[in-house]
Amino acid sequence: MENKNEVRLQKYLADCGVASRRKCEEYILEGRVKVNNKVVTELGTKVNVKKANVTFDGQVVSIENKKIYIILNKPKGYISASKSQFGNPSVLELLGDLGKRVFTVGRLDMDTTGALLLTNDGDFSYKLTHPKYEKNKVYIAEIIGKPTSEEMSKFMKGIVIDGKKTSPAKIRVMKEKNKNVLVEIIIHEGRNRQIKKMCEEIGHKVVSLHRQSIGNLDLGNLKEGEWRYLKKNEIEDLMKNKR
Ligand code: URA
Repeated sequence: MENKNEVRLQKYLADCGVASRRKCEEYILEGRVKVNNKVVTELGTKVNVKKANVTFDGQVVSIENKKIYIILNKPKGYISASKSQFGNPSVLELLGDLGKRVFTVGRLDMDTTGALLLTNDGDFSYKLTHPKYEKNKVYIAEIIGKPTSEEMSKFMKGIVIDGKKTSPAKIRVMKEKNKNVLVEIIIHEGRNRQIKKMCEEIGHKVVSLHRQSIGNLDLGNLKEGEWRYLKKNEIEDLMKNKR
């Protein structure tokens, strides 16, 4: 009979807030996880959550970790990684000491501003970034030149970037700003530099990019650099609604 206390190691690590499930799989393969003092690199390994002593990079991993969920209005110049790189600060520096390790749910480029979620809940992150669950994300981009309706229709049909076609996306012109144009773009994937690459493919370079919302959650009154904890109903809504 199935033992309810036995769970796959990567799920347990994610549940305890180490990182997303996929990232935890990498940590296991890198030999950074020990169960009862032995390095485990087998992804399917099950652990008894009541009895096993699990460590990550030598630190005990415990289910007692309270889950936290944050929305940040990311300013330019910060990177969506846990450590600063090449002198560029990490977004985590904006949060101060939370007493817990959190990680970003997906990423925004260093020069992109706007809504970025952070959590220590690996399942939450998995649900928000997995293609099966992915949410609509609304971006405002300033691009060079006004796109024609033919160019814009390519967003709906899909655009090949990095050798793979994008899922149907929406684009609409909001405002003309001299030679530049503000467009609203809605995508539900989260591929690397997706908006910039899609716009470049239709011949319009992005000069600035801002993420306004993720699913039903938007920035509200948060100013750049400000953050807040999500409310229970917001977390539930993000977890359940597909779009
Ligand atoms: N698409 C991009 O090109 N950059 C981002 O930061 C987010 C989406």
